[in-house]
Amino acid sequence: SAASAERPPCPVVLLTPQGRKLDHALAAQLAAHDRLVLVAGRYEGFDERIRAHLATHEVSIGDYVLTGGELPALVVADAVVRLRPGVVGLATATATDSFAHGLLEHPHYTRPADFRGWPVPEVLVSGHHAEVDRWRRRESLRRTLARRPDLLASADLTAEERRWVADLTRESEAATARPG
Ligand code: SAM
Repeated sequence: SAASAERPPCPVVLLTPQGRKLDHALAAQLAAHDRLVLVAGRYEGFDERIRAHLATHEVSIGDYVLTGGELPALVVADAVVRLRPGVVGLATATATDSFAHGLLEHPHYTRPADFRGWPVPEVLVSGHHAEVDRWRRRESLRRTLARRPDLLASADLTAEERRWVADLTRESEAATARPG
């Protein structure tokens, strides 16, 4: 039909600073489709009829204005494509990245165990996988609490993780408390 010729049977994403801000949830939603049309504007943007009749999504990559939609289109493409099966080597790699579970990721360390007298945390060289896993979950919470406490409000935490958040909050309050 004329309608299907005008609007492809897949998301048609307008890149615009007036759109919904790109986040993990939106990238994951778009990654569920086999095809995606990305429409980049220039100058004043788009004729309103494109927005009204052809677009299925309007997406912004942040509260600033670029000269054109080409870079935003690449940003969306990269964020979406890496969530497709087989694009990132290990399927679990993208599952543990920041935002995938609503939290920031824990810090990473590599070799050597001591660099210029800066040691890798003891637990990470201990070989105790369960302890390493606990440390990572705790550090992920610590980092999210320090940098993006807004994410914790909607994060899906276990009872143990909620206790850790309470402990970490008390720790940081005690560290900043002044006598008197
Ligand atoms: N007149 C538009 C407005 O005020 O909303 C801005 C147009 S901008 C100069 C030109 C094009 O760059 C836009 O049509 C859009 O495709 C792209 N663009 C600029 N900033 C963007 C952002 N933050 N997110 C997504 N696309 C952006």
